[in-house]
Amino acid sequence: MVEMAKKSMVIVGGGSAGWMTAIYLNRLFNHTEKNFDITVIESPDIGIIGVGEATVHSVRFFFAAMGLDEAELMRETNATFKTGIMFRNWMKPVAGETHEYFHPFEHQRLGRVLDISSLWFLSDRPTRERYDEGVCLSAELIKHGHGPKGANSPAYQGVVPYGYHIDAMLLARYLRKKAVEAGVKHVEATIADATVEGENITAVHTTEGESFTADFFVDCTGFRGLLIDKVRADNWDSFEDALPCNRAVALQRELEEGEAPNPYTVATALSNGWAWQIDLVNRQGTGYVYDGNRMSEDEAEAELRAFLGPESKVLKCTHLKMKVGCRKEFWVGNVLATGLAGGFIEPLESTGLHLINLAAGLMGTHLAAEQPGQDNRDSFNRLMRGFYQDLKQFIVLHYCLTNRDDSEFWRAAPATVEHTPWLNAQLEIWKHKVCEYHDLAGAFSTTFTDENYRYILYGMQHVPKLGLVADQTESNRMFAELARMQENACKITMPHADYLARMNT
Ligand SMILES: Cc1cc2nc3c(=O)[nH]c(=O)nc-3n(C[C@H](O)[C@H](O)[C@H](O)COP(=O)(O)OP(=O)(O)OC[C@H]3O[C@@H](n4cnc5c(N)ncnc54)[C@H](O)[C@@H]3O)c2cc1C
Repeated sequence: MVEMAKKSMVIVGGGSAGWMTAIYLNRLFNHTEKNFDITVIESPDIGIIGVGEATVHSVRFFFAAMGLDEAELMRETNATFKTGIMFRNWMKPVAGETHEYFHPFEHQRLGRVLDISSLWFLSDRPTRERYDEGVCLSAELIKHGHGPKGANSPAYQGVVPYGYHIDAMLLARYLRKKAVEAGVKHVEATIADATVEGENITAVHTTEGESFTADFFVDCTGFRGLLIDKVRADNWDSFEDALPCNRAVALQRELEEGEAPNPYTVATALSNGWAWQIDLVNRQGTGYVYDGNRMSEDEAEAELRAFLGPESKVLKCTHLKMKVGCRKEFWVGNVLATGLAGGFIEPLESTGLHLINLAAGLMGTHLAAEQPGQDNRDSFNRLMRGFYQDLKQFIVLHYCLTNRDDSEFWRAAPATVEHTPWLNAQLEIWKHKVCEYHDLAGAFSTTFTDENYRYILYGMQHVPKLGLVADQTESNRMFAELARMQENACKITMPHADYLARMNT
């Protein structure tokens, strides 16, 4: 048996990035014996960002792999389920109705000769239903107010894939408790400085004069990027040309009497960006992500409050500046940056925790080498850059297809695609054929595949003109099968509110 060398790691930062990374690496490297000494240093004076309350569905597998009890995790974080995102107002109203479409996590592959999307386009269904309503189960479940699970669904399993809406503050606290119980050291101190030799940090020093040495340092200090900036200057790739929203105002409001939490996130386009609405069991987290070059903080807050309505009981309001882009090199010398210190893409598809999850996995595989060297760093950096670049492109897809022309922000939105040349060319191709898996071959996307692209493309009315006639017998058979599956899914799942009430008593 090859013995792992004993190494040490200091993680600076105790937000989701710090604790997810700590709990993962500790479980990976220290499950039977201690191979990696892991210490998290967290400032008692600098808070965590405290937003980041919706997840994609893969985060569920992270929590499961960490051995966390799903019901306990949800109870301790006031969590609800999320089966997708409802996008509202991203195009002009249609026949006087607000434009909307749903992006679920679910993929149904029922077609035989032709895929389900082509069959849908070649039927009369587009005249009477949205694309998502015709091709998945999740859209039917949310129409009935149902969550993804039945009374007897095992932990981390549902009738359809799901993520969570989760209180970000409580999540960091919960993960900290679990990580410390599992043997991660926790130090409350503020790092004031670091000793740097070449591109390595040899020690970090607290404001109280205490020093911590380690083989590796992980920068989880949020937008500050305290450690990574010390070892490499000019290390930021800005995405602001493609993604102009660089500010947010986050607001928490009470759920009104009798208002049941939705099992989906709502993303509503406003005048200069979009607002999220994320329901927890006890409150709604909401916020406006906007272009700070086009409106002031006060204007953004006023528009968000007007959108929520005068009756809204606001609990808390925070204004945030966002640094949009990612590191050119996430791992320099012995310093690795993750979470907001590594990069940030607006949370339209709730990907912050997902990117932390991906980075933690790659840290595990790359740090497992006996002597991680430049090859390991290059590989890690290439993959991380790829994740961010692909995600940037997927987010641009949401903006560039708009036909809204009611503000300069929306009139400029279609041009964002000029900063993602592959997507720009591909949109032409997708006028004539459905988006398929092979189109994305070679991409880094691990969560957003052809099916996800289809929900956005077709939700935003970028539909292919197909010169085909479908076999109507096959088409009818397939849609009848889907209807049966939808009906059955509604029978075996519980109303979202009932499931949560049962879980929380
Ligand atoms: C507006 C907005 C909405 C978002 N929505 C979502 C979402 O819906 N879903 C999602 O997955 N993600 C979302 N995100 C991203 C998500 O918030 C982050 O990815 C996640 O919270 C990780 O943050 P972090 O741990 O990197 O940073 P932070 O939470 O900022 O934590 C930084 C930590 O570093 C510590 N620190 C800083 N300086 C020092 C120092 N000198 N010494 C010691 N400690 C220090 C702080 O004390 C803190 O513990 C959103 C982000 C924004 C801005």
